[in-house]
Amino acid sequence: MTETITGGCLCGQVRFTIAARPKLQLACHCGNCRKQSGAAFSISALVPKEDFKITGQTKTYLDKGDSGNDLPRVFCPNCGSPLYSEVAVRPDAIALKAGTLDNPDWFKPRVNLWTDSALPWVAIDPDCKNFPQNAG
Ligand SMILES: [Zn+2]
Ligand SMILES: [Zn+2]
Repeated sequence: MTETITGGCLCGQVRFTIAARPKLQLACHCGNCRKQSGAAFSISALVPKEDFKITGQTKTYLDKGDSGNDLPRVFCPNCGSPLYSEVAVRPDAIALKAGTLDNPDWFKPRVNLWTDSALPWVAIDPDCKNFPQNAG
């Protein structure tokens, strides 16, 4: 069954579609994701670029990953919703902020990154693949 997944920013200026349900679903507890998302942690799905179509105007904040790699974070310049990040180790894919999905019901993190930085009240699911910092 093919399913087109849709999403967009809070104001609706940016819209996107994903051709297939992304397999890799993760939560990142690093301090930068916390700042950018304004939440305890950010949730992302790794989407192959060929599956991802986006319309509307975006702006990019060039962050640096812990590895020193550029980490462009793309957001809506009108409402500020974080949309996705480019991933240096996966140039064929983007890390889509899963909270921007119109229907995120299917999304569930299977991986936690930077659990060392997780806020003390955040329960890390032991059934996930968990990494104290970045995935090795
Ligand atoms: Zn917007
Ligand atoms: Zn992060």
